[in-house]
Amino acid sequence: MGQPLQKILIASNNQGKIKEFKALFAPLEIEVLSLQDLNIDSEPEENGLTFIENALIKARDAAKKSGLPTLADDSGLVVPALNGEPGIYSARYSESGNDHDNNLKLLTKMRHLSGVERAAYFKAVLVLLRSADDPVPLIAEGEVHGFITEKIEGNEGFGYDPLFFYPEKKSTFGLLPATLKNQISHRNNALQQLLKKILSL
Ligand code: IMP
Repeated sequence: MGQPLQKILIASNNQGKIKEFKALFAPLEIEVLSLQDLNIDSEPEENGLTFIENALIKARDAAKKSGLPTLADDSGLVVPALNGEPGIYSARYSESGNDHDNNLKLLTKMRHLSGVERAAYFKAVLVLLRSADDPVPLIAEGEVHGFITEKIEGNEGFGYDPLFFYPEKKSTFGLLPATLKNQISHRNNALQQLLKKILSL
């Protein structure tokens, strides 16, 4: 590979994620910039059919507009017994798209399922494009596996956290402190994989 990475743009408007990425890249002496830092407006239509396609769409649009190496992520909840739903539609599963309605829709869809049929996992995909036309993006994936509870438990986190039972902690993500969830999350797993790939460039 050519030059070492000195700057990375994060193609996200989520300040929480940007903070997380900044902390992670600090020891590598890679400067992390946000869309906001550069005054770039990037909200491309996420019309891919997979997490990878949607992350690529977001990374490519922001890389084109900034001319910088760009990292984008896409994530969601996958329930194999529902053919992978809500999957890439996790954020917009119910009509309103708010977390509570998404949770209620999932509970309703799963009311006839029991035992291992309630297995589910969170998936996170990260895509790093060194330029908008980079033919070999770095792609990292992370997962965390558990089960969907029969009722909402806890109000920590966001999204489907109150329904996601994590057996190793005998608790839903909705009942876990953020610091603990962040150590075991699909996003953290993907980030660790990506760091390994960056360090081996
Ligand atoms: P995004 O990739 O941040 O846009 O997340 C897509 C959607 O997936 C979110 O709106 C949530 O519904 C769901 N999701 C992703 N990660 C998590 C998580 O860590 N906990 C709960 N829900 C999540």
